[in-house]
Amino acid sequence: QLSNKLSCYMRALFDYDPKEDTLLPCKEIGLEFKRGDILQVSDRKDPNWWQASHVENPDTVGLIPSPELEERRKAYVAPEADFVHKISICGARISKKKKKFVYESRSSVQLEGAELALYEEVARTPPFLRRVLALVGTRGVGRRTIKNRMIQEHSDRFGAVVPHTSRPPRPMEENGQSYWFVSREEMERDAHAGRFLEYGEHNGHLYGTHLDSIRAVMKEGKMCILDCAPQSLKLLHNSGEFLPFVVMIAAPGIEQLRNLTYASNRNLTEEDMKQTLEESARIQRQNEKYIDLVITNNNIDTTYSKINDALHSLSTDHQWVPVSWIY
Ligand code: 5GP
Repeated sequence: QLSNKLSCYMRALFDYDPKEDTLLPCKEIGLEFKRGDILQVSDRKDPNWWQASHVENPDTVGLIPSPELEERRKAYVAPEADFVHKISICGARISKKKKKFVYESRSSVQLEGAELALYEEVARTPPFLRRVLALVGTRGVGRRTIKNRMIQEHSDRFGAVVPHTSRPPRPMEENGQSYWFVSREEMERDAHAGRFLEYGEHNGHLYGTHLDSIRAVMKEGKMCILDCAPQSLKLLHNSGEFLPFVVMIAAPGIEQLRNLTYASNRNLTEEDMKQTLEESARIQRQNEKYIDLVITNNNIDTTYSKINDALHSLSTDHQWVPVSWIY
């Protein structure tokens, strides 16, 4: 939801090149931008074209497509078909080949059910540390190793949630250690009331991450590290409470992936590894709006220090965050 203010800041969630835009009447007046760029939008009166500039370079004023225009464009493909266009010059009928611009509905498969996110209204804040570090990515690419290492090495700064389950405790399992043991009714009631970040069923028992468990870590003054499913990102992003920093741990090339799975004693076939790569690319594509940083995990030590560097920057540099986090 965008505010009604005429002038505001937007994070672009797609790449735009005016030179490629067949709808723009004159290419020179368009403003090129890349996904992630912060734009200062100065005029939004026109329903199709907004006036904007790059925040780091206010001299770059130009037109950008409004979300309405871009939504219409993205929902359609425009195959170019030749058709014979009859024109008349000095009374003589001349047939001329012309490119026809045809809109055709894109299949839902092409849109992949992804939300059409084009711009997000943002505001500039002083440096601050986010409350949640969400690590996303496919299974077996290193999320869990990184999470465990961060908590082991900096237990004063980072914490993990204790999940809930309706499974009865096994001998030696204490409530609140590896799980909070609760009844199925209680879990279902809280799940229906939206009090779980995520939950699922395994062997006839419910398991899930209660929002109160995240709050408990935050209350200790620690950043809560979640090794979470991409479906959880929307809630984290929109809550205005958890202020997450979302890092996508992307699958490396097949050779490095083989080394990673070898190191973690997992027996993956070539087909499994191909699927891991595809799944990783899909997660990244479908959740671009929520992801702050993508790290291709070629080497676990390098990935670990890149995350630590990024967290350090959060505490020293200003940040652009969704306006909903502030107001
Ligand atoms: P166990 O009962 O042996 O401790 O765990 C069995 C399985 O429960 C795990 O392998 C995992 O698939 C699932 N599980 C554990 N914690 C959670 C959680 O927080 N959320 C979800 N969806 N599943 C979980």
